[in-house]
Amino acid sequence: MATSGGETVTVFKDLGLVAQVFDEPALAGLEGHLGIGHTRYSTTGSTTWANAQPAHRQIGATSVALGHNGNLTNTAELAEALGISAATTDSDLMAEGIAREVNDERSDSRGLEMAVMKVAPTWEGAFSVVLMDQGHIVGIRDPHGFRPLCMGSLPDGGTVLASETAALDLVGARFVREISAGEMVVIDASGVHSYYPFADVNPGLCLFEFVYFARPDSQMYGRSIHGARHAMGRALAEEHPIEADIVVPVPESGIPAAQGYSAASGIRYSDGLVKNRYVGRTFIEPDQMLRDQGIRLKLNPIVENLEGQRVVLVDDSIVRGSTTKQLVRMVRDAGATEVHLRVSSPPYRWPCFYGMDTSDRSTLIAASMDVAEIREHLDADTLGYLSLDALLEATGVADAGFCNACLSGDYPTTIPSSADKFQLERS
Ligand code: SF4
Repeated sequence: MATSGGETVTVFKDLGLVAQVFDEPALAGLEGHLGIGHTRYSTTGSTTWANAQPAHRQIGATSVALGHNGNLTNTAELAEALGISAATTDSDLMAEGIAREVNDERSDSRGLEMAVMKVAPTWEGAFSVVLMDQGHIVGIRDPHGFRPLCMGSLPDGGTVLASETAALDLVGARFVREISAGEMVVIDASGVHSYYPFADVNPGLCLFEFVYFARPDSQMYGRSIHGARHAMGRALAEEHPIEADIVVPVPESGIPAAQGYSAASGIRYSDGLVKNRYVGRTFIEPDQMLRDQGIRLKLNPIVENLEGQRVVLVDDSIVRGSTTKQLVRMVRDAGATEVHLRVSSPPYRWPCFYGMDTSDRSTLIAASMDVAEIREHLDADTLGYLSLDALLEATGVADAGFCNACLSGDYPTTIPSSADKFQLERS
């Protein structure tokens, strides 16, 4: 987190879960009426203290802190243009570029916003960013709006920016509106001001926000994420019906789709797997060995619900396949007589360069196997994926503009020639 009371920007960051990093003494040192915070999901650079966010730069009298959700696709070009090799993440380069551009001499104190207006159009790829200096908060979304960003207001009149509306609920803020794709908002003592620094705007929110990333109690494009996932499950039951005894979700993100599948098929919904609430999502652990171990720490079967049952197992996606294979095994070992796997998104075939840590195509199971081969590999009795048309329909906002590159190979931007997440560290 970074905070300011108007004079200086104080930054406190570390590796670990939020509750581990921010104990009472750490929080007591973060004073002020302005603040930003970010929990980083590593898609560029390794997991080190220096790469934890907010990124911070002090140049002259200007102190800039920046939190970045997404992934730039022109990091190598930006590093070269700035003539630096010390930065190890795209977000570091963003902070560096802005700090250099801030003109401390401006008499109207609009230095930060003018710098962002000038520098942000040089960034390519995905970025929903919050940044601050001593007197301003700026929020900005790339011209496709790959990653979400919304605005709320506090009961005392304060303004909040957040990735998801669920975060507004947590601090008692009222949802005001989404920041539009390509929009920049500046919050300072005079209020909230909106700007559009990009020449071409073409909305393309990440479709996986609806499938997996976002919390079910959030809203995007005005649509409930839970409602959309329920609709995906109903559509999945229509596209891939099967005779079975129970529908079992892979908790937590598979739950609404399993409820939808059960409602549409009439097959009883049952909890067959229990999530350990004290272990993070396995997908975000960056190392394959940790992921393999993670599933056993993360989920446990309820044997009395699964024993002797023909199970429809509903998950939101299959990316690498290693987790799913262990899940099918776990359900069979618990006594299920049949396991019918249903997935509420299409095969994930193409790498993502916009903030999901799947830039290596060789790790994607659907990149090298067709559906029949995947079924056999996972040892499921049947396997059914939701079609892309049905998925878009289930969002309820199919025409709002989505990126679906990982499902279709249809990328909305130029993609980088090198997808190496450690490219800056090696240069
Ligand atoms: Fe989302 Fe897939 Fe697009 Fe990446 S490629 S932004 S995961 S829809």
